[in-house]
Amino acid sequence: EPRSKVTVVGSGNWGSVAAKLIASNTVRLSSFDDEVRMWVFEEKLPSGEKLTDVINRTNENVKYLPGIKLGKNVVADPDVESAEGISLVKGMEVKKEGPCMISTLISKTLGINCSVLMGANIANEIALEKFSEATVGYSKNKEAAEKWVQLFGTPYFIVSAVQDVEGVEMCGTLKNIVAIAAGFVDGMEMGNNTKAAIMRIGLKEMIKFSKMLFPSVKDSTFFESCGVADLITTCLGGRNRKVADAYAKNQGKRSFDQLEAELLNGQKLQGVLTAKEVYEVLSDRGWVEQFPLFSTVHAISIGRLPPSAIVELGDSRSANK
Ligand code: NAD
Ligand code: 13P
Repeated sequence: EPRSKVTVVGSGNWGSVAAKLIASNTVRLSSFDDEVRMWVFEEKLPSGEKLTDVINRTNENVKYLPGIKLGKNVVADPDVESAEGISLVKGMEVKKEGPCMISTLISKTLGINCSVLMGANIANEIALEKFSEATVGYSKNKEAAEKWVQLFGTPYFIVSAVQDVEGVEMCGTLKNIVAIAAGFVDGMEMGNNTKAAIMRIGLKEMIKFSKMLFPSVKDSTFFESCGVADLITTCLGGRNRKVADAYAKNQGKRSFDQLEAELLNGQKLQGVLTAKEVYEVLSDRGWVEQFPLFSTVHAISIGRLPPSAIVELGDSRSANK
């Protein structure tokens, strides 16, 4: 049987950690080719060198994951022609005909089956090989899912698979909106009880929205790493939380774009964009009133409401008219 070749498309903070995890397994497993290609969105560093060249010379992504060796079998490449089908990307694209999850977009564009991997996975902690868990979501092909579990799993990164691709992907996508809300609470120093309340309300909205969009979504998925565990870690230690905290501390006087550029050195946060995309779906379908937390996060992040509105969810209806 030919050895499967693996390419990681994307080389930011999480993409780089994914390449490190996978590369440690491809050298070990005979069903995979040792070499792991990592597609890089090429950019020049302040030194004038290309990021790809520096990664290949030092075996480190000096910009997005400094200080961590990726493994000698990782090769950075600015061109990619074909890829294996698993998405680690959180978010959705809202089109006229409705929302389209990233795995569906990949699947349709490349004509391949696409699973997803999501979980309580702050990339920098996994880079340091601290214990964590993740969930693979698949639709039909259990064999492929088992292959992904083999490819990603390590003693410090425990991966399990569930047959609910939509549920897993919705969890990973929607928790970023709740993390923005948690950041507002932190920025205003409202305390732990308030933050827990916001996380609980957020989780309920996550479950409700996922099921309204995809009736096949299973309740049990929310108890996997991709569900409640990812929600907790992102609300405690993620980038969405961090930037939303700064936004609230600045009382909305500095935009999310400005703060993202200042605080994240080129890394991106997903929650503000996801809140906008979800809000489009909510208003399109007449569901705004049923999702006060999601719609209030959107209203605050575009400056229509102050950060303090995050605990006045009853008022969100008028704000979003
Ligand atoms: P990142 O935020 O660290 O970096 C952004 C990446 O996007 C860089 O590689 C940059 O070169 C690239 N980029 C910027 N503009 C581009 C363009 N126009 N075209 C193509 N590429 C461009 O990236 P990340 O942390 O790897 O995040 C990727 C996904 O992984 C996101 O959906 C995120 O939610 C998810 N994720 C991240 C983490 C984490 O802890 N970092 C954990 C789990 C999931
Ligand atoms: P942040 O982008 O908020 O850091 O979240 C990372 C993540 O998605 C953890 O699963």
